[in-house]
Amino acid sequence: MCNRMYEANNYTFLAERDQHVLTYVKCSQCGSAILSLLTLNQQGLQAVGLVTDLTSDEVVHFEQSQPVSTNDVLQLHEALEKDRRIVP
Ligand SMILES: [Zn+2]
Repeated sequence: MCNRMYEANNYTFLAERDQHVLTYVKCSQCGSAILSLLTLNQQGLQAVGLVTDLTSDEVVHFEQSQPVSTNDVLQLHEALEKDRRIVP
């Protein structure tokens, strides 16, 4: 984000599964973080990067949690409808 080269010791390998590696690197200068999914396939190594404001611990936490379901969204909607303190 600030054009500073990432330092190798700031890289963290968060998860590895099959041919996929999830990495995280945080810039020591500006604090921005990049989450990368590296995939090895027949075409070679592919990388998908994403700027994130999550910490590496938060990435691991959410990576292990269940995806948000339709029922989760409906339950949140009902809770917001019922409790007028949240949405007046
Ligand atoms: Zn930076």
